[in-house]
Amino acid sequence: SSATTQADRLAFHVNAPNVVYSNDAVEAKYIYRTTDVLNDNGRLTAVPKETRHNFRTSTKTSKLGVMLVGWGGNNGSTITAGIIANRRGLAWETRQGPQAANYYGSVVMSSTIKLGTDARTGQDVNIPLHDLLPMVHPNHLIIGGWDISSLSLAAAMDRAQVLEPTLKSLVRKEMAQMVPLPSIYYPDFIAANQGERVDNAHRGSHACQDHVELIRHDIRNFKRVHDLDKVIVLWTANTERYADVIPGVNDTAENLMRSIEEGHTEIAPSTIFAVASILENAPFINGSPQNTFVPGCIQLAEKHGAFIGGDDFKSGQTKMKSALVDFLISAGIKLTSIASYNHLGNNDGMNLSSQKQFRSKEISKSNVVDDMVAANHVLYKEGEHPDHCVVIKYVPAVGDNKRALDEYYAEIFLGGHQTISIYNVCEDSLLASPLIIDLVLITELFTRIQWRQDGEREWKGFHSVLSVLSYMLKAPLTPPGTPVVNALAKQRSALVNIMRACVGLEPENDMTLEHKLF
Ligand code: NAD
Repeated sequence: SSATTQADRLAFHVNAPNVVYSNDAVEAKYIYRTTDVLNDNGRLTAVPKETRHNFRTSTKTSKLGVMLVGWGGNNGSTITAGIIANRRGLAWETRQGPQAANYYGSVVMSSTIKLGTDARTGQDVNIPLHDLLPMVHPNHLIIGGWDISSLSLAAAMDRAQVLEPTLKSLVRKEMAQMVPLPSIYYPDFIAANQGERVDNAHRGSHACQDHVELIRHDIRNFKRVHDLDKVIVLWTANTERYADVIPGVNDTAENLMRSIEEGHTEIAPSTIFAVASILENAPFINGSPQNTFVPGCIQLAEKHGAFIGGDDFKSGQTKMKSALVDFLISAGIKLTSIASYNHLGNNDGMNLSSQKQFRSKEISKSNVVDDMVAANHVLYKEGEHPDHCVVIKYVPAVGDNKRALDEYYAEIFLGGHQTISIYNVCEDSLLASPLIIDLVLITELFTRIQWRQDGEREWKGFHSVLSVLSYMLKAPLTPPGTPVVNALAKQRSALVNIMRACVGLEPENDMTLEHKLF
């Protein structure tokens, strides 16, 4: 019967000598093939290299809880309603007719990958990404969290003005029962215009040990009450200003912990949440642009082997940018400027109308083309960079219907020019919310994957900084000293190919030689 259970959990089996299934895990020997380049005074020699890894993935998914910081916000209320609607298989009336719940916009739930080629017909066999390895189903997530506003999730969903009234009426009863836990509020970190909604905060307006303990207690309690295996904490609260990184204050784990105890005023609420999560071994993901992960916080996560990921959901404009710029520069077209303009009228927009919070967003939106530019020294001289300007304006009337206008200006053959203008309109929160699902599901999966090099005895986890989440994030955090990849297609193939490696399959290389050499 244990064999049946295992089979039930898996969408397919791999039949290969390097892959072994046990009752609750799949273990794969994997040869990681890369290319070393030797540079002898400009003479390059490429040397194929092989590293042998073993991956062991537990096939038992966790009973998983998600705690959102900023639960009562647009994203928090939208994702909660969306999961309830999917779990209950709801359909509701809209102007266009009945609309059924779905997970569109989630790369895990609604995109497919090529598993291989049908041995008989030669046709591609595609499966949902969700089926590549056993993953939690979002319908089974238990959601909770904190907000500085005490509104129930039903009232929060009304305040957000995102969902159709017919859908809201179907989930209202359940959401009225959901009330965010009191949070911590340090007015200096978010816009002054947010003050009005604050009626659900613990005493104290700057960092202290008590706040860390309160959040830790909330995480433990949530886990116990719902009988969960794991809890993931995700910041979808307001964008904070940047924290100054000050030697002796937040530059090392030890200094950070001492500064919290001493009540230093340069420690952000989001960093308190990150620290509390790390100490509870609950993965912490930052969906906003601020530098929650000051060096001391990253070090603390490494010390505790706890997972962290960030920063800033990559939903609309930047996702497009990280695909389009990759296309232009890989096509050999010299992008010379990007002018990005947004206006939006939701609470996020109001918060970002304040200069210091806008600055956090500007930084996170600005660096997204660096790696693609740096990789092409045919088009760009050392240090040369396209102009890149980012504007965000608050226009209340458009509400959550964010507008993004982008102009890409590029130099083409023999001094000609190409201008591409994009005008994108969409409900901001309906793009961002499915990313929460992806971040959480992928993080949970990576808590179940262990690896070791051939010959090593000890199994270990991935690095604390989960850069495999990059596809969903505007300013991907990577392990200190390692390169940042922004190009969207590369980020996706890293994720998919690491997952393939865990079941002993080669990366999908798109050569399709079988169709070219017959
Ligand atoms: P929102 O303003 O509607 O929600 C934020 C919520 O956080 C509010 O309910 C607020 O009361 C709460 N909050 C603020 N400080 C808090 C604290 N210290 N503790 C607990 N709760 C706190 O914003 P949103 O549209 O849901 O976006 C959330 C975040 O995600 C923003 O920082 C935004 O920049 C970021 N983001 C959003 C998108 C998107 O929606 N497309 C994309 C990228 C990033």
